[in-house]
Amino acid sequence: MKAVKQKEKKNYTRILNKSLKIFFSTAWRITLSHPSQAYFFFRTVRWQMKAAKRRGEIGKEGIHVPAIIIYSITDRCNLSCKGCYAQALHTSTESEMNADKMRETIREARGLGVSFMVLAGGEPFVRREILDIIGNFKDVIFFVFTNGTLIDGELADRIKRIHNLVPIISLEGNRLETDSRRGSGIFRSLSEVIGRLQKRHIFFGTSVTVTSSNFDIVEDGQFVRDMHRSGCRLFFFVEYTPIDSTTEAWEITDNQRRALSGLMESFRARFPALFISVPEDEKDFGGCLSAGRGFVHISAQGNIEPCPFVPYSDTNLRESSLKEALKSNFLAAVRENSDRLEEGKGGCALWNKREWLNAILAEKKHTADVKEQ
Ligand code: SF4
Repeated sequence: MKAVKQKEKKNYTRILNKSLKIFFSTAWRITLSHPSQAYFFFRTVRWQMKAAKRRGEIGKEGIHVPAIIIYSITDRCNLSCKGCYAQALHTSTESEMNADKMRETIREARGLGVSFMVLAGGEPFVRREILDIIGNFKDVIFFVFTNGTLIDGELADRIKRIHNLVPIISLEGNRLETDSRRGSGIFRSLSEVIGRLQKRHIFFGTSVTVTSSNFDIVEDGQFVRDMHRSGCRLFFFVEYTPIDSTTEAWEITDNQRRALSGLMESFRARFPALFISVPEDEKDFGGCLSAGRGFVHISAQGNIEPCPFVPYSDTNLRESSLKEALKSNFLAAVRENSDRLEEGKGGCALWNKREWLNAILAEKKHTADVKEQ
């Protein structure tokens, strides 16, 4: 059994590394009309290979370094969207890690061979200090998932100068869907923001939370066509994960879920852009990529968690280095039992297994307590 798991691990890691290389090679081809962007993605492809090699080296020490780190640098946000998982799940009153600790964490991640970082929140741009930090690590690419409303002319000019920052604007579809979830007038201000990014030839993306109510908008393709015409070259479709009973009806139906992968294939064939469907695309890697299989999540307080949707942890970066934290027994237990995480019921398979996660943590704590006695 151990040999099978080792072989599987070797296999999905190889597939993931290859997919990252293909992903950034595609980004390079898509941006050829903009030499500065193309040159950046060309360098990124080379960096991806170096990073994968570095992860392999650290792997020989028995430490599983994920290719991607999702870092929610703040829980603060200037909006309060309906059904926001960040505001529902990340309610810690503990202070956020300061700028020095953020920089140190990113430096260590780069040193361990983390290929790219996803910065999330809350709203990441409420922490403007992150712009200087991103500028310090030119060979690491940062996807910044933002509600976009803070991107005025001054910030757009700064983003233009930071090639390794890719803003990913959150939308719910068109005006009606976006304003009904995010607030009146948000869609109009985001249209202006997208205009600013396009005028400056900034490589940007969008992230759409796919629900049972906006699925038709996504499916008919007009939204993708309009966004592509507006300069968007990277599309994330993230299946909504109901965090409580009040939003269970937002979850897409089984028929819609079955249609999603076909839809992504048709978009990839029709538009010169990159399309990622979460968690749908994880199937290509043998299922859920959380807990370090493909990515880990760092909370604003420094907790190392399997996924942004799952605020469970047994390690914190205030007490240990990132390298030490990646040795987490909790993460290892989730990774080694990833076959338990059958997708299919509501976006995040791990969120649906909260009792199991609690049991792992309780058992780990009990073992630690016994050891201390
Ligand atoms: S912008 Fe994002 S973090 Fe802020 S309230 Fe909306 S969904 Fe939540």
